[in-house]
Amino acid sequence: MARYVDRNKYDWFGTIWKLAVFLGVILLAILVVYPWKGFWPTFIMILAGLWMYIGLVSRSTGYVCGKCGKAFQVPTTVNFFTSSAIGKNPDGTYYSYKNLTCPHCGRQSKARLVKRVGAREARGSGRMLR
Ligand SMILES: [Zn+2]
Repeated sequence: MARYVDRNKYDWFGTIWKLAVFLGVILLAILVVYPWKGFWPTFIMILAGLWMYIGLVSRSTGYVCGKCGKAFQVPTTVNFFTSSAIGKNPDGTYYSYKNLTCPHCGRQSKARLVKRVGAREARGSGRMLR
């Protein structure tokens, strides 16, 4: 059973690493594929890179409902078509959220991004969420 914990700075590093791979794909598409194959293959390659990146991120993250506090996962398709926003915590740190409809209570709220971890990893580190 997977658990959800608050993200820490190491998770941001993980996100940056995935983002760097994604940017690498874009650069390759623009610098190599575009002069060679033209616009559409470049466009499709960038879209595929973006999809891959979101798929990777979706698998290791979840969202916590702002109304009932329960954690849930969103499919890659939903993640792909919704935009992320950055919010500020009362203590001055920042967090990432999306306006999502909660599958538990059915209400729309600012759902906060959390890390999805295995039960073993969750022990000891981070605050446990319901
Ligand atoms: Zn809810």
